[in-house]
Amino acid sequence: MKPLKDRRLRPDAEAQGHEGHKGDEGNAPLLAVRDLAVDFATDRGRVAAVRGVSFTLKAGQSLAILGESGSGKSVTGRALLGLIDPPGRVRGTIEFEGNDLVGWDENRLNTVRGPGISMVFQDSLDSLNPVFSIGSQLTELLRVRQGMDRRAARERAVSLLRQVGIPAAGERLGDYPHQFSGGMRQRVCIALAIALRPRLLIADEPTTALDVTVQAEILRLIRNLRQETGMALVFVTHDLAVARLVATDVAVMYAGKIVERGAIDAIYRRPAHPYTRALLASQPESARTWSDLRPIPGSPPDKAHAVPGCAFHPRCPLATARCTTEAPELLPLAEADRSSRCHHTEEALHAAH
Ligand code: SF4
Repeated sequence: MKPLKDRRLRPDAEAQGHEGHKGDEGNAPLLAVRDLAVDFATDRGRVAAVRGVSFTLKAGQSLAILGESGSGKSVTGRALLGLIDPPGRVRGTIEFEGNDLVGWDENRLNTVRGPGISMVFQDSLDSLNPVFSIGSQLTELLRVRQGMDRRAARERAVSLLRQVGIPAAGERLGDYPHQFSGGMRQRVCIALAIALRPRLLIADEPTTALDVTVQAEILRLIRNLRQETGMALVFVTHDLAVARLVATDVAVMYAGKIVERGAIDAIYRRPAHPYTRALLASQPESARTWSDLRPIPGSPPDKAHAVPGCAFHPRCPLATARCTTEAPELLPLAEADRSSRCHHTEEALHAAH
């Protein structure tokens, strides 16, 4: 295992030479993603979905990956677990506990999936097998992966269902996925995801398909489980308010790149990138009246046609001629542990007030 220099959550840290919190020295990251690129073969040629994404995450940390649909956030999350199938292509480094997972075959990846990295998906119906009861899905996992006998696996399955808030857990083991409501089914998926005690949980928009009240319960459950178990969390979402409930740090993605990253509260108070500012202004939670709501003009770029310069320039109120020709780098701000990919970060910071 290769020793890793300590860094707190620092997208593009290697490239930028941006130091982490003092006092973190000697504490290697759980996950170090460097220059991650994912592209897919299409009839219009290879299309880049993720370009040069780098960040680190330490044990117990929580990072939200935030962006509009098509920004590359979900592809990034799936790449971490080796879920990009050919003709998708993954390049760069995904170092988990010192091992680079890129290029691993399914057999090797399966040794990490579950006890190392686990995932909760948006659609719980797709994640569960409809022809097996949830009890058999849970106990099978425990018996195969942890060598438990039937009785121990059953007890642990009941305990997991209780842990995720399924009422009368013991009586629900024989029920099938379709017999649960959407929220309860997502709880079952979370029970499956934490069954092998992962060190890192990736949650890909796990509440998007749920009612608002159920959404809040699931978010609280994920936050509490993270605090109880000490697992790290990567939470993929398009919703800044949701991100703020479950994560302490955020990486904002646009057109396959991280455009801003840092502590979520600081970014929420004072975004340094025009896209983050636009995202905030477009959130219903930030508006008191209809006229306060400001949708982001235009559409995200077509991945098959790279936008010259800054990919956000056709939609950006601060764009200048430079932005149309020169792609900005992700650079550290004076404020600790923050970075922004913008030629006019100072103007963006002031415009945020
Ligand atoms: Fe806007 Fe230019 Fe900054 Fe891109 S680089 S976000 S176009 S100001």
